[in-house]
Amino acid sequence: MSQCLFCRIVAGDIPAARVYEDEELIAFNDINPQAPMHVLIVPKAHIATLNELAQAQDALIGSMVRRAAALAHDRGFSEDGFRTVFNCNAGAGQTVFHLHLHVLGGRTMAWPPG
Ligand code: AMP
Ligand code: ZN
Repeated sequence: MSQCLFCRIVAGDIPAARVYEDEELIAFNDINPQAPMHVLIVPKAHIATLNELAQAQDALIGSMVRRAAALAHDRGFSEDGFRTVFNCNAGAGQTVFHLHLHVLGGRTMAWPPG
């Protein structure tokens, strides 16, 4: 069995509150939400970080980003705004080393991020 937390969620070994799924990705609510909407968009294939991306994943990343916008739109955050974040490696706050796109909405976001 994979030791990777998000591979185990993809496989259904660990439960998650899924909000979207297709052939190549799943989206589920973050267990420790930092905003009223905090969804993680996760490719089903294991990719550790942004540093491992190849051109072959360009369409996948496009699908993830477009799904983020669609989920934010579904929650009514298109106009007011929403935040998308890929943390890459520990120095940027990455704690789960399976690529994921954070989608946060429902509150005012500060800039610069911490
Ligand atoms: P990052 O720090 O960018 O790697 O983000 C990892 C995110 O995964 C954090 O926001 C965690 O709250 C979230 N997380 C960790 N375990 C789970 C879980 N079992 N289900 C849902 N989200 C999780
Ligand atoms: Zn994984």
